[in-house]
Amino acid sequence: MTVGRFAPSPSGRIHLGNILCCLLAWLSARQKGGKVILRIEDLDTARCPLRYAEQMVEDLRWLGLDWDEGPETGGPNGPYFQSQRTALYQDALEKLEALIYPCFCTRAELHAASAPHREDGLTVYAGTCRNLSPAEREKRAKRRSPALRLRVPDKEISLIDGHMGGYAERLERDCGDFLLRRSDGMFAYQLAVVVDDAAMGVTEVVRGADLLSSTPRQLYLYQLLDLTPPEFFHFPLLLAPDGRRLSKRDADVGLDSLRGRVTAEALLGRLAQLAGFHPSGDPSTAAELLEAFSWEKVPQEDIRLPENLFE
Ligand code: GLU
Repeated sequence: MTVGRFAPSPSGRIHLGNILCCLLAWLSARQKGGKVILRIEDLDTARCPLRYAEQMVEDLRWLGLDWDEGPETGGPNGPYFQSQRTALYQDALEKLEALIYPCFCTRAELHAASAPHREDGLTVYAGTCRNLSPAEREKRAKRRSPALRLRVPDKEISLIDGHMGGYAERLERDCGDFLLRRSDGMFAYQLAVVVDDAAMGVTEVVRGADLLSSTPRQLYLYQLLDLTPPEFFHFPLLLAPDGRRLSKRDADVGLDSLRGRVTAEALLGRLAQLAGFHPSGDPSTAAELLEAFSWEKVPQEDIRLPENLFE
């Protein structure tokens, strides 16, 4: 059985990019008769207060995108808030113990020591703390609580994305040892997402193309934890009319402003048109879009929003 999921981070009101993500995840799973899980990715509790999550749940209801398991509905794989699942991340961390080391680098040090930024903003970790002696670790730990990094091999990790096709990285060269826990104790997204998708039985992950480059790291974690990875579908990003990446700060495409001006059906119909599978752009429920949806119709290139989306 296909199990899809929505995994929004409630750090603000959802915007059109998040909605497109939920719509595609919903269509892709439902078209195969599958179920959908809603998981709230609120690891960063300071940036993700509960009221944002509640608003997000309400916005998804308004859009008519339903889920079988998650907040409000409950289910056998809860809790559905990452902030309540940290014991599972801690377990995984313990399983990886032999490959983990403490990293004492400050942000400034990381910046100074690392190779040039990649396109996705990640800096390749230079391995500064990889081979510190036990004595050195002890000394530094007195001054600063460390982050935890995973040692990566010089090995290529590749995948065939269900929408974007082949993608590969050599982890050591392209990414470096990556964080599993920050120095303030917060678990890293890479670890949490793998643990949760596996524990919840997710079989397909639909998300924006900005996360394609995280996938090799996640696949490496699946290998190490002896878990079965899902299938991945990365879809093109929605860009503002001027070509910038959309963010939760783009008030004009946030639901705050849109809910007063358009119906949920108008919004979904227009998004489906931009995503290539609903040429008329006419108002439509998610269920009405099921027949026309196919990954082949969705473009691979980023999608620029037109100036007046609803006029
Ligand atoms: N929580 C992430 C976000 O809102 C998505 C993570 C994922 O789909 O793997 O961007």
